[in-house]
Amino acid sequence: MSPEIGHIRSQFPTLDQEFNHRKLVYLDSAATSQKPNRVIERTDSYYRMQNAAVHRGVHHLSANATDMMEQVRDQVKRFLNAAEREEIVFVHGTTHAINLVANSYGRLAMKEGDEVIITEMEHHANIVPWQLLAKSMGIKVVVWKIEPDGTLNLNTLKDLLNQRTQLLALTHVSNVLGTVNPVNDIISIAKQNGTKVLIDGAQSVMHQSIDVQSLDCDFYVFSGHKLYGPTGIGVLYGRKHLLDQMPPWEGGGAMIDEVRLDGETTFNESPWRFEAGSPNVAGIIGLGEAISFVEEIGFELIQQHESALMSAAMQRLSEIPDITIYGPTHKSGVIAFNLGDLHPFDVGSFLDRYGVAIRTGHHCAMPLMHRYQVPAMCRASIAIYNNKEDIKALCEGLERIRALLM
Ligand code: PLP
Repeated sequence: MSPEIGHIRSQFPTLDQEFNHRKLVYLDSAATSQKPNRVIERTDSYYRMQNAAVHRGVHHLSANATDMMEQVRDQVKRFLNAAEREEIVFVHGTTHAINLVANSYGRLAMKEGDEVIITEMEHHANIVPWQLLAKSMGIKVVVWKIEPDGTLNLNTLKDLLNQRTQLLALTHVSNVLGTVNPVNDIISIAKQNGTKVLIDGAQSVMHQSIDVQSLDCDFYVFSGHKLYGPTGIGVLYGRKHLLDQMPPWEGGGAMIDEVRLDGETTFNESPWRFEAGSPNVAGIIGLGEAISFVEEIGFELIQQHESALMSAAMQRLSEIPDITIYGPTHKSGVIAFNLGDLHPFDVGSFLDRYGVAIRTGHHCAMPLMHRYQVPAMCRASIAIYNNKEDIKALCEGLERIRALLM
């Protein structure tokens, strides 16, 4: 392990513990990443010394908390290279953001018979909101199927697009196959058809730098907890002119201009119109700290380290007899596999005994399980703090399980 990565790893207290008398090997960062001390300490210090309700108080603590929260909006704007700070909406996470777009933009821009394209590799968070919308509005959810190698064929997209296609909602990186979708090309094809594009960045934002202006997407969404930040906070980026047109989705405090009992209630400007109720201030401030952490490391080092680790992991795993690895060879962050016909739950439970934490199940991507005709898969996923010893522990664990159970 390079001293640089060793130093980064030493900032994550969760990783410095033992389970079953073995040092924890955490390979489940695609589900949620561990948090560095500075994010934990920043959230802690907010609650200790700075806690206040925002937007409503004239007192010092409240004004200060409001300022800190709004500064993180600026920080996220820079992080995503958004054109304006008003394009950044704080939400609970990716799921919340997609539901917001479906219920606000979807209801504004779509009418019966219109179509939304999703892909076969979406997380349930980018399937079910569109299905619910389809049921209530009579729109159609069209599925862009994957190729046998787990990638998307751009020609298929051209065949699916038509005059009724209002939106293409797809993941940047698959949380199961690790496929990195060529979103630049995909967005440009969709644009030629006048179709808006939502990118689910839940699995890309921690692995590569994102520039929403150069992507030219209409919406980009992510969760803080996969980016070394707290749970319960996420971001919806939306083009300003779209957010400005979109009606509120959730009602309550902070999202209003004037509330009247004759029903003529008026609403705040975007993005605040979409932030009903007391916001997760500690989460927002923790997210700001997580973004600073990532920016100080820099995506150059992140990509260099993680891609070397992914290649080593793919190489080493593929040497294990009876292993099936799903999806393309070139992947980002996650590797899904099965070992012979062993149930993933058994594999995951044995690995846990050896101190190795992976995820097993359908990974909130049941259509992919159907596609590969398996009930579940094992998934190992990496982050900046993982190293080759972690991969070695995983592979040695799998070899022992194979010797024991097969
Ligand atoms: N989209 C993808 C690709 C994901 O991997 C996840 C979470 O695993 C989500 C959406 C949902 O994220 P959250 O549960 O943080 O809302």
